[in-house]
Amino acid sequence: MSQPLQSVAAANRQSPETARSLCKDLSVALARFPRVRLGHLPTPLEPMDRLSELLGGPRLWVKRDDCTGLSSGGNKTRKLEYLMADAQAKGADTIITQGATQSNHARQTVAASAKLGMKCHILLEDRTGSNDAQYNHNGNVLLDMLHGASVSKRAGGADMAAEMETLADRLREKGDVPYIIPGGGSNPIGALGYVNCARELAEQAVDIGLQIDAFVHATGSSGTQAGLVTGLAAIESDIQLLGIGVRAPQEKQEQMVFDLARKTAEHLGTGVSIPRDGVRANCDYVGPGYGLPTEGMKKAVKTLARTEGLLFDPVYSGKGLDGLIDLIGKGAFEGMDNVVFLHTGGSAALFGYPEIFDLPGYTE
Ligand SMILES: *Cc1c(COP(=O)(O)O)cnc(C)c1O
Repeated sequence: MSQPLQSVAAANRQSPETARSLCKDLSVALARFPRVRLGHLPTPLEPMDRLSELLGGPRLWVKRDDCTGLSSGGNKTRKLEYLMADAQAKGADTIITQGATQSNHARQTVAASAKLGMKCHILLEDRTGSNDAQYNHNGNVLLDMLHGASVSKRAGGADMAAEMETLADRLREKGDVPYIIPGGGSNPIGALGYVNCARELAEQAVDIGLQIDAFVHATGSSGTQAGLVTGLAAIESDIQLLGIGVRAPQEKQEQMVFDLARKTAEHLGTGVSIPRDGVRANCDYVGPGYGLPTEGMKKAVKTLARTEGLLFDPVYSGKGLDGLIDLIGKGAFEGMDNVVFLHTGGSAALFGYPEIFDLPGYTE
């Protein structure tokens, strides 16, 4: 089981010099892996002062991975830098991946394929059973098609890995060279993107003299958190990481993150070991299920739009924020001064859910 978040006493903090030196070592370790540059990196780290004031807890910051640049941005772009480089190294000319109907991962993968001149096939799993026209055709789906992917649907609960293999066989018969990217880009190759993000954040903090107590984000297919866990362990950081779940129950989510973090550490090859108690997920904010709106999410998305001018999404970052806001109220960050929320992107999905926010019409 995971441990509650703990504030680290000032005297036990890592020094800026140690942080810099360990970050440099991690950069060297990461430089051995093929990578294509797709994102605008480093992403900004910005204070959210209006939100902090409103909530009255620790000072809140946002790490803007919604600003990675490719097709309206998001966290999958960091993973794709390593995954697409691997696909190119293997001589692939076609990418296959899968996700839910409003998958941000699919959208960023299609955009990366377009930029690199590769064909792209997307399989979308109907996880929500929604018949809504906006959900099924607008938002990320619109962008998938705009970027030129061939998109097909599969029923909820389909074995999506097997579906991708079947499609790959069919494409091989035609002479294509397909490369399969798992859902969310979550494997040890993709997770390297978030190993790199952990280093990037730690260096930014040192640059501006900021002591980050906790780092919070939405966790789904687990590659983001697994990469961060691995990266933070590699630089011996005392930043406390917390994933807010959007799909699986806590025990399953933590196990997925832990397993992938161990594989990522092995792939990284620096001998870093992954502490089980550093893998923390809180899955109390999923609501009725993956991709299904909750009152807390709606309130959080509106609050951020109206206090910070930021766009969060209904499926991931909005539920993550709901968790952050609620946990601040419950004192989970007691004794902490600075908490960073990782904005993983997803605002394109807002246009797949235009009805849920109960917004006023035009005024006179
Ligand atoms: C995919 C995604 C996540 C979750 O990242 P995982 O690596 O799948 O855990 C969080 N936020 C957004 C907006 C996403 O698209």
